[in-house]
Amino acid sequence: MLGIETSCDETGVALVRAHDDRSELLVDAVASSMDEHARFGGIIPEIASRAHLEAMVPTIERALSEAGVALSDVDAVAVTAGPGLVGPLTLGASAAKALALGLGVPLYGVNHVIGHAAVDELVDGLFPDRVMALVVSGGHSSLLLVDDVVTGVTELGSTLDDAAGEAFDKVGRLLGLPYPGGPHIDRLARAGDPTAIRFPRGLTAPKDQAAHAYDFSFSGLKTAVARWVEARQDAGQPLPLEDVAASFAEAVADVLTAKTIAACRRHDVSTLVVGGGFSANSQLREMAAKRCAEAGIDLRIPPIRYCTDNGAMIAALGAAVVRRGLPASSLDLAVDSSMPLTQVLV
Ligand code: ATP
Ligand code: MG
Ligand code: FE
Repeated sequence: MLGIETSCDETGVALVRAHDDRSELLVDAVASSMDEHARFGGIIPEIASRAHLEAMVPTIERALSEAGVALSDVDAVAVTAGPGLVGPLTLGASAAKALALGLGVPLYGVNHVIGHAAVDELVDGLFPDRVMALVVSGGHSSLLLVDDVVTGVTELGSTLDDAAGEAFDKVGRLLGLPYPGGPHIDRLARAGDPTAIRFPRGLTAPKDQAAHAYDFSFSGLKTAVARWVEARQDAGQPLPLEDVAASFAEAVADVLTAKTIAACRRHDVSTLVVGGGFSANSQLREMAAKRCAEAGIDLRIPPIRYCTDNGAMIAALGAAVVRRGLPASSLDLAVDSSMPLTQVLV
């Protein structure tokens, strides 16, 4: 299975061999245009599209040569059909269609966000019958009950405003850090005191239990950080960057892990998969490890290189589709920038 990912700024190409009882990663090649976006403080879709156009064939060639696999040995192609940026998605889908048409092999258009969970099957083995998946990234913070990674995904909750990664990037901007701020806040937070400032935990009040037990909200937290920083500056006091970062990261990790573990208990699930670019965050990884150990939950978080966008996650999900014997997607498939999380395959 050759997997292609182009939903945002990464051009990802990977090869996975699907066995009956496991999916084996052969190679994972990624090119990124992030350097070209950083000075704008956000992803510029037109720049990302052009970068995919330039990087696609070299990245495919690099993946094949590193794996020692000939193009003619590829049996199937999987591609991100959504959600993501329309232009970048279209570039990836066009390349995948050209390959499937030229090679005469099936094409599978799959969901990027579910791919962030499915990639864990390459690292920790195929999912047990029922898992909880927390997918946290630049665009999503979603809690998913997964009875089957292709046919049985239920969304228990999601963010009502900013995604976790997005909140980190916005707080990074207000702290004057380079874009994307997420990894910079992570680094600062490791040197700070997470109990220095008590920032609010969104949607955790008793009144939110009924309608929003498993939903997240981070925009109030972001505003609280902005107010705290302003007050400090108005008073002419120096900004304890490390403590602000640590206290902010603590608030995000606290809410994500508390709600996720409550959902595991409520649904009697004993395996938690955490994925998506924000699962690279060390504060989240540490707190999830500690709280899952206390709760007797088996925690599966892939290594950081498989948390951010890559082709392996798409090839892994494509392999899961093939293992279930589902029909291929049509070669006239359309991309869907807001593909619902319950739609795994188009
Ligand atoms: P989606 O998957 O929802 O379409 P995306 O593909 O843009 O969104 P990813 O590439 O999966 O998102 O993740 C990128 C996000 O992860 C960015 O917001 C980035 O700041 C954040 N991020 C990456 N590493 C860290 C880290 N160590 N700590 C905090 N945030 C991080
Ligand atoms: Mg990215
Ligand atoms: Fe992503």
